[in-house]
Amino acid sequence: MAQKPPTILVVNDDGIFSNGIYALAKALSALGTVVVVAPDRQQSAVGHALTVNAPLRVTPFHRDGTLFGYAVNGTPADCVKLAVNKLLPAPPDLVASGINHGANTAANILYSGTVSAATEGMLLGIPSMAVSVDTLNESFDCSAAAHYALHIARMLLSMDLPRGTFLNVNVPALPLDDIRGIRFTRQGSAYWRDTYVEMQDPQGHTVYWIKGQYIIPENEAPDADDIALRQGYVSVTPIRYQLTDEALLHSLRTRYAHVDLTVDTHRTNAQS
Ligand code: MN
Repeated sequence: MAQKPPTILVVNDDGIFSNGIYALAKALSALGTVVVVAPDRQQSAVGHALTVNAPLRVTPFHRDGTLFGYAVNGTPADCVKLAVNKLLPAPPDLVASGINHGANTAANILYSGTVSAATEGMLLGIPSMAVSVDTLNESFDCSAAAHYALHIARMLLSMDLPRGTFLNVNVPALPLDDIRGIRFTRQGSAYWRDTYVEMQDPQGHTVYWIKGQYIIPENEAPDADDIALRQGYVSVTPIRYQLTDEALLHSLRTRYAHVDLTVDTHRTNAQS
């Protein structure tokens, strides 16, 4: 008996008009039914923000004369939540976010709207992946990244992904033939050294514009995401959202086991 083809929710943070989401939707349609629900504007670096003080509006978005998907005046996480809760008749089999212009390695994972859409899918119990290509050039051809996204989506649908984990995929900005294959990696320790450029607005007020320099430490782990990218490999990192430092939790409990942790001021206030 033939299995029902999977439903795939495609989302991004660069906006529904981006060529990256178009390449991803097109590639994944080989795998099943693709539904695109994405922000109606650029939402990069919004992280896991949710819209709570305003209503969300859903607008059909056409591309080349046909319906491509649904544009939402919200964040990437809004798009996933709304699609799963309201727009889709049943939860999708896969959430795929991207293809983002700009690598989402190391510290970028925290700021990224692309990654947060995958995080939201994972929180809702759906196998999820984020895909980014290592260039900020918005007209870069994403077909090689889309090719690998399809491959990894197949892998993801056939594996038993632990609940609470999703896949973060980063693809070098190279032609397909120059990409050396896939490496399974860890989140690296690269970071942004930020400065704020001071300038004048047209009214003469001082404003500040962030200007970051991305630093990959000299002693970066050889199996880090950025190292794989730099060597021409597709980096695939299993990412968990559980943030508790288990070792410190244990040592705090042990160290303070016999100490009265009642805050004195609270007691005196309660008695007075
Ligand atoms: Mn982006």
